Amino acid sequence: MSSLLLPPGIEIYERGWLSANNIFHFGDGDVSIVDTGYYAHSKMTVDIVTNALKKNGLSSLNKIINTHLHSDHCGGNAALQEHFGCEIYVPAAEALAVQDWNADLLSYENLGQDCPQFSHHGILIPGQEILLGRYLWQILAAPGHDPHSVILYQAEHGILISADALWEEGFGVIFPELWGEPGFEEVAQTLDLIEALPVSLVIPGHGRPFTDLAKSIETARSRLDYLASSPDRNSRHGAKVLLKYKLLEWQKIEMQAAHRWITDTPALQHAAKQLHMGMDEFAQWLPQALVKSGAAKLEGAYLMNHEPTY
Ligand SMILES: [Zn+2]
Repeated sequence: MSSLLLPPGIEIYERGWLSANNIFHFGDGDVSIVDTGYYAHSKMTVDIVTNALKKNGLSSLNKIINTHLHSDHCGGNAALQEHFGCEIYVPAAEALAVQDWNADLLSYENLGQDCPQFSHHGILIPGQEILLGRYLWQILAAPGHDPHSVILYQAEHGILISADALWEEGFGVIFPELWGEPGFEEVAQTLDLIEALPVSLVIPGHGRPFTDLAKSIETARSRLDYLASSPDRNSRHGAKVLLKYKLLEWQKIEMQAAHRWITDTPALQHAAKQLHMGMDEFAQWLPQALVKSGAAKLEGAYLMNHEPTY
């Protein structure tokens, strides 16, 4: 359905939940991709890009744009950079972190994830515009899920690339609140910003594109109310999403190894503290909570991924 609504030169490759969607922009002078998926799937990402280029009679990719630097949005950067020699643009507030590959500023260690190192060539400054393919896109700040995330808006066609700030049914985990930084108010403000834009099509970071913005904003607001009314609830939800995400990568893991990963992951240590649980108690609770919600199952000494995805 989305291809019918898309103007020429824009193509979406909807990925599984582990990788953010890839959004292609084809123009005479520029070929760009927004977000590059998770590192464990970077070979697949190179193939997807190669095929998309071939289909359009092209062989080179000029630039990568990252809406934010979570590993499911920029995990394919290094592989694409190596393969195509393309430039990489990151949100301005992340430039120094990328330049120094500063583990304290980047999210990977904190969230217990991996992302191969890459270098950036340009920055995305909220309030400015950037040419992607044949259209100019406005760069807008969208803090909440991630304090430095940007979203992209194409005014003539009313298209919003919403990253994890707005999905058809919600938004990405409000991570900052897990470690005591503000996020709820930022999500509310980002939803207000999005609602004020004339939008006919939203291309989210995960899931299919959608057209009913009002309905999604309403869903997101009630979700925000639910989470913000209890920071414990937000922490439990965030912790479950982090383990589920890791399980999507592992598919199957010895429970002992899962416990070790939980215990060693700083964001989860913060979540445990927020929930007034000791780390051992928390590491026992979290896999059970995922099993209870149907997003994982136990098989002997193993924790297994289980669909429907969380
Ligand atoms: Zn994200």
